[in-house]
Amino acid sequence: MLPFKLVYHDRYDLNLGPHVFPSQKFRLIAEELRREGIAAAIDFLQPSPASDEDILRVHTREWVQKLKNGRLTASDVMKLEIPYSPELVEAVWLAAGGSILAGQCALRDGFGANLGGGFHHAYPGHGQGFCAIHDVAVAIRRLQADKAIRKAMVIDTDVHHGNGTAAIFRDDATVFTISIHQENNYPAHKPPSSIDLNMMDRADDEEYLGALIPAVQCALDEFRPDIVFYVGGADPYCEDQLGGLSLTKKGLMERDRKVFEQARRRGIPVATTLAGGYAQRLEDTIRIHVNTILATVDVANQFPIAAARNA
Ligand SMILES: [Zn+2]
Repeated sequence: MLPFKLVYHDRYDLNLGPHVFPSQKFRLIAEELRREGIAAAIDFLQPSPASDEDILRVHTREWVQKLKNGRLTASDVMKLEIPYSPELVEAVWLAAGGSILAGQCALRDGFGANLGGGFHHAYPGHGQGFCAIHDVAVAIRRLQADKAIRKAMVIDTDVHHGNGTAAIFRDDATVFTISIHQENNYPAHKPPSSIDLNMMDRADDEEYLGALIPAVQCALDEFRPDIVFYVGGADPYCEDQLGGLSLTKKGLMERDRKVFEQARRRGIPVATTLAGGYAQRLEDTIRIHVNTILATVDVANQFPIAAARNA
């Protein structure tokens, strides 16, 4: 049995058909974790969809109504860059519920993993770049509303800048945002995160980790969040179709392990979500996401929670 829960729902699939976003990846990751004997049925929790009340702490009523009633304008769909369907709406409400649940699990168990979510380009009033609802922001707002946490940190390692996250929390002193991304890449407009690590094209494992880990250490020490939400991008991978960095699979797993270790050493719970991954071979994207779970297992076993809290 895993020392933390995996949050997953079969209806996470965004129903995109042939598309650069392989939305069947959520199911394939869950299947692979079982196939390799990393996880069993008992390790999985099925989320409920977020309530509209939860969603409305982040998103405008107008955007929520457009999604629920299928009334997106041509411009809305163009920004979203994925086709609208009722299944998409169901999937993103579930993903937000999943990130809430992963956050709650993390507060209880030290780690919680949503095998979905990470929709970091979504803004309060519109979707963008395959992201309709900002699940991580919804989860943070819900945990704050429940008074389960006061301060949260988002560590976003997707190859694309976390523009939605930065915009949502820009004037909020209770949420610290870190984005490490390729500077010359989508989105064109990058509102400032608390820390932006702008990587040059084709940056490799060493350059990337050399920028990320010291920044994470400093930020955790200074800000002392009650929880970290980790947006685990698979797209800094060297063979990604939408990315221009040169990380290896080994480097990406090292990234996950080191970030988790820094939080764990300080006794800070971590909720993980997925994010982008558009490798030429789908199995590479699956492997990178599965490795995030393996890195979590490593760190959870290496640093038992009682010891971590006393450290
Ligand atoms: Zn991305």
